[in-house]
Amino acid sequence: MLDFVRLEADVGEEERLVRDTAREFVEDRVKPTIGDHFEEGTFPTELISEMGELGFYAPNLEGYGSPNVSETAYGLLMQELEAGDSAVRSMASVQGALVMYPISAYGTEAQKEKWLPRLGNGDSVGCFGLTEPEHGSNPAGMRTTAERDGSGYLLDGSKTWITNAPIADVAVVWARDRSSEGDPVRGFLIETDRDGVTTNEITGKLSLRASITGEIGLNDVTVPEENVFPDVSGMAGPLSCLTQARYGIAWGAVGAARDCFEQARTYALERDQFGGPIARFQLQQEKLAEMATQITLGQLLAYRLADLKERDELRSQHVSMAKRNNVRTARETSRRSREMLGGNGITTDYSPMRHMANIETVYTYEGTHDIHTLILGEELTGISAYQ
Ligand SMILES: Cc1cc2nc3c(=O)[nH]c(=O)nc-3n(C[C@H](O)[C@H](O)[C@H](O)COP(=O)(O)OP(=O)(O)OC[C@H]3O[C@@H](n4cnc5c(N)ncnc54)[C@H](O)[C@@H]3O)c2cc1C
Repeated sequence: MLDFVRLEADVGEEERLVRDTAREFVEDRVKPTIGDHFEEGTFPTELISEMGELGFYAPNLEGYGSPNVSETAYGLLMQELEAGDSAVRSMASVQGALVMYPISAYGTEAQKEKWLPRLGNGDSVGCFGLTEPEHGSNPAGMRTTAERDGSGYLLDGSKTWITNAPIADVAVVWARDRSSEGDPVRGFLIETDRDGVTTNEITGKLSLRASITGEIGLNDVTVPEENVFPDVSGMAGPLSCLTQARYGIAWGAVGAARDCFEQARTYALERDQFGGPIARFQLQQEKLAEMATQITLGQLLAYRLADLKERDELRSQHVSMAKRNNVRTARETSRRSREMLGGNGITTDYSPMRHMANIETVYTYEGTHDIHTLILGEELTGISAYQ
C-alpha cells in the first residue's frame, strides 16, 4: 500500500493493530460484495454489528466501552474503511463522530449510559439530522422547531439527506428552541419509533449507492426533557460534531484515493498494449507519479492533524483545509485511475469508478468544497464572503 515517505514506520503498536484489523476487514468483508451492493443500492447491514464488535465506532472516545485509541489510530481506521467504500466509512463516521460524540460531549449521564454502549457495539444505529430541504450549506437558517410542552418538548419540521435515517433507532436532531430567548439551536435525542416520526428512504442516488440515506419527518413529536442535550446551545453544538466527522473524512478520502492508485498501478503493470505493459509508457507513469505525490501530501496533512488533535490544538479551519484538499485529491485520483483502466474501468469489477461516484457526495457533504474555501478565505483575510 502506498506510504511513500514511510509515515506508517513511525506509528505505534496500537495504530498498527487498528490499521491491520480494518485492512483485513475491508479485504475479507467489504471488497468481495461492495460492488454488488453499490449496483443494488443496498448497505451490507450484516456489517453493522461486525464493525461494532471490532470497535470501529468512535474508538477515540473514552469510557462507556470506548477504548480511547489515539487520533492517529482513529484516522488510520477511517483511511482503511474508505479504501473499501465511502459508504462503509460513512457508517462509522455518522455512528461515531456525529451520534456518539455529541452524546459523549454534551449528554447527561443517563443518556451516555443508555446509548453509548449499544451504539458502540452496533446493537443500535444512530443518525444525525442537521440538513433541511431549504437549508444545506446554511444550517443556521433551519426551520425545525422545538417548543416546551408540559415536562418536555414538541418538535416539528423536516430534515433531509440523512445518512442511515431509515435504519436508525435514534436520531440526533438539531432544532430551534422557540421557548428560549433568541431561539437557540439545541440538540435532541429522538427515538425513531416515537409517534409522529417518519424516516423515508431517498432513492435514485447515483453516488454513495451502498449507503442508506433518508429524510426525517417530525410531526408534533413529543420528547421528554431527559432527551435534550443539557450542555450545549447554539450552532457550536452541531458544528463541533461536523469538525469531528470532517477530521475522519480528511483521512478517509486518502484511503479512497490510495485504493484507486493501487488499482491503477496493478492494472498498468498487467495490461499489455502494443507489445508490453501500459506501465512502460511515460504518459501512464506521469499519471501514477502525480497520484502518488498528491496522496502523499494528503497523508502528511492528515498525520499533522492527528498530532494537533492529540495536543488539543486542532482548529476547525485546519480540518477545513484537509477535508477540502484530500477530497479533491480523491476526486481527481479516481478519475485518473478510471482513465488508466480503459473500458474495464467503468464497471463495478474495479473500484475507481465506484469511488469516483462516491466522492461526489463526499465533496458535497460535511461542508461543500466551496464552503470550506470560504472558511479558509475568512481565516486568511478576516473577511467573510458567505453572503
Ligand atoms: C449522500 C448524502 C448523505 C448526507 N448525509 C447527511 C447526514 O447524515 N446529516 C445531515 O445533516 N446532512 C447530510 N447530508 C447533507 C449535506 O451535508 C448537504 O447536502 C450539504 O451541506 C450541501 O447542502 P445542499 O445539498 O442543500 O446544497 P446547497 O447548500 O444548496 O449548495 C448548492 C451549491 O451552492 C454552493 N453554495 C452554497 N452556499 C454558497 C456560498 N455562500 N457561496 C458560494 N457557493 C455556495 C454549494 O457549494 C453548492 O455547490 C448528506 C448529503 C448527501 C448527498
